[in-house]
Amino acid sequence: MEDGKPVWAPHPTDGFQLGMIVDIGADALTIEPLSQRGKTFLAPINQVFPAEDDVNKHVEDNCSLMYLNEATLLNNICVRYSKDLIYTSVANILIAVNPYFDIPKLYSPETIKSYQGRSLGTLPPHVYAIADKAYRDMRVLKMSQSIIVSGESGAGKTENTKFVLRYLTTSYGTCQDIDERIVEANPLLEAFGNAKTVRNNNSSRFGKFVEIHFNEKNAVVGGFVSHYLLEKSRICMQSTEERNYHIFYRLCAGASEDIRNMLHLNSPDNFRYLNRGCTRYFANKDSDKQIMQNRKSPEHGKVGALKDPLLDDLGDFNRMVVAMKKIGLDDTEKLNLFRVVSGVLHLGNIDFEEAGSSSGGCILKNQTSQTLEYCAELLGLDQDDLRVSLTTRVMLTTAGGAKGTVIKVPLKVEQANNARDALAKTIYSRLFDHVVKRVNQCFPFDTSSNFIGVLDIAGFEYFEHNSFEQFCINYCNEKLQQFFNERILKEEQELYQKEGLGVNEVHYVDNQDCIDLVEAKLVGILDILDEENRLPQPSDQHFAEAVHSKHKDHFRLTVPRKSKLTIHRNLRDDEGFIIRHFAGAVCYETTQFVEKNNDALHMSLESLVCESKDKFVRDLFENNSNSKDSKQKAGKLSFISVGNKFKVNLSFSNTFCQRAQILSQLQCSGMVSVLDLMQGGFPSRAPFHELYNMYKQYMPNKLTRLDPRLFCKALFKALGLNKNDYKFGLTRVFFRPGKFAEFDQIMKSD
Ligand code: ATP
Ligand code: MG
Repeated sequence: MEDGKPVWAPHPTDGFQLGMIVDIGADALTIEPLSQRGKTFLAPINQVFPAEDDVNKHVEDNCSLMYLNEATLLNNICVRYSKDLIYTSVANILIAVNPYFDIPKLYSPETIKSYQGRSLGTLPPHVYAIADKAYRDMRVLKMSQSIIVSGESGAGKTENTKFVLRYLTTSYGTCQDIDERIVEANPLLEAFGNAKTVRNNNSSRFGKFVEIHFNEKNAVVGGFVSHYLLEKSRICMQSTEERNYHIFYRLCAGASEDIRNMLHLNSPDNFRYLNRGCTRYFANKDSDKQIMQNRKSPEHGKVGALKDPLLDDLGDFNRMVVAMKKIGLDDTEKLNLFRVVSGVLHLGNIDFEEAGSSSGGCILKNQTSQTLEYCAELLGLDQDDLRVSLTTRVMLTTAGGAKGTVIKVPLKVEQANNARDALAKTIYSRLFDHVVKRVNQCFPFDTSSNFIGVLDIAGFEYFEHNSFEQFCINYCNEKLQQFFNERILKEEQELYQKEGLGVNEVHYVDNQDCIDLVEAKLVGILDILDEENRLPQPSDQHFAEAVHSKHKDHFRLTVPRKSKLTIHRNLRDDEGFIIRHFAGAVCYETTQFVEKNNDALHMSLESLVCESKDKFVRDLFENNSNSKDSKQKAGKLSFISVGNKFKVNLSFSNTFCQRAQILSQLQCSGMVSVLDLMQGGFPSRAPFHELYNMYKQYMPNKLTRLDPRLFCKALFKALGLNKNDYKFGLTRVFFRPGKFAEFDQIMKSD
């Protein structure tokens, strides 16, 4: 960078702004913004990046930019986005920007056809190009392939995952029925596992890995879905303006009269698990009325119902039922699902009050209400058993020599509320497991040669309050980042080798220390947490203290007190910890870590549901080793580690461009780290024929008669360029960071 050349300098809302360097200080540059001539500001040297000469020009692959850095990457994406070109590539990575509207023909059958069998880079960047590359690699290498879709909530992960699935099944499927089922499984999974959040009306609250299996002739034979970490807290509680899982509202809105009566359903307003998060929408605000009229749904006119004007629960219910039919669910199976969903809703309405006796226990409030009866009926339980299990806990006495005697200890109101919610969460998450299992039966296959897997899992998360869920998600993203780095590194090295560059080393900072901090045996945070869960009286504070004391001087871990983030200043050291992730530092609040890490129910509740009269409910809890364990250990809450289960699962090999937001997403998705990694090698590259066409006009005729490769060789020699700055490959020239631009400048000034 030098005086008089355009640069990208930091900007508070746009991420970067164009400017000129007017003075170079020891560690800061004085910049004059192009938009405000005459004014200057100071910017740290490491936050200023060289700009392309023409900032309005865009390229399909960021590697063909003269300067590849986070500012040029951001600008390129934004210029393309303004022209509805939502896909851009960086070598083998595809970046997608959510357009929030349907771009005509972008995913049409013709477009699908045009990408079939075409090498990456021959057509404009597209998610179909990635899908096809995975397919061709699988065929040629005879190896299964995976596509990782990453990004923050609302980025478009699930939509793009679906495009990949549709592409592969339509292009390489042979049995239309199976192909359709693989695609139609999504509405069912989304009904039970997606919810409206403040960021996304259809936010996936679970991670999934979908495998499309192929036979030895490379035709689709079936599929398999694995799921990770359904967000259980949402079943009982939602933040303001957020909702519970779609299925609850859809069922209330769409069930037929018969089913409503059978399941004792009415408006979502009457259910505790539904009426506390979402703001009520009355059709009295003009904007709401407008939206409701646009949607043309009779449900939308209902005044006072818990209704989100942006969602069409009735229409979605009908679509879901069609999808259920397509994947082969019969009426009995459908009703089983609906019955348990309603059972959970009625369970949530059970209230407790103090017993008013000396026992210190509680009783059911509104004993005359039919809530208990409905809940028991729908879940196949005995009313009295249900009441007793919710208000007492079975314990083993150790006093007075009567060791081993089982007694019932009355619960306080708060404890009974917790027991109720724990039961609801367990039942619903078992139901979700069942839905996934059932979906997997829809596209069975006997044998398969290889598969293409698509991972759709939440990206790095960083909120005002971060709990166990964010901890797990971010740990997962550290693992993905590592995998990503290793892949890119390997791919870059392979490319260098294929092109005969004779360089093998690319240097980068890895994140193994952060992964170890979480997953190392005994001393890792997950094991410390499990250790806490096994104590007779586990506590979140004791857990946080243990984490700090075991990792006093760990580079990646600090106490909240040392946080520069003002919002976390009030946390005590035994209330949380800060981890420095690759994407930034996150402060985790450890309240509820112990509880959230335990998937086990108290014995009284566990045996209650395991002995349900309803076979479907009983089956949900079948094969659950915990139920057997807990019977042996009466009174003691057995423990199933959520964190470690996740760890095992992870061992897999708007209408305008908001620039600052996109920049932070590029940083969090690890894209900026990838650029850093590439900077260690030869990030800019240009094919010989392109260089030939670009520069032949500046060369004497004699030289232009050479073939492109010789032309480039002769040219570079004539210019006397430093040999360390570039390498000749077999098909293209590779440049060290910034050297492509330097070369270009020499050419044009000579
Ligand atoms: P979450 O992590 O919350 O599940 P996500 O990354 O899966 O978020 P999506 O649900 O895929 O996000 O996308 C959010 C919404 O954005 C979609 O419901 C859709 O309306 C819109 N959208 C995403 N991608 C596209 C696209 N390529 N074209 C048109 N609309 C899109
Ligand atoms: Mg999603």
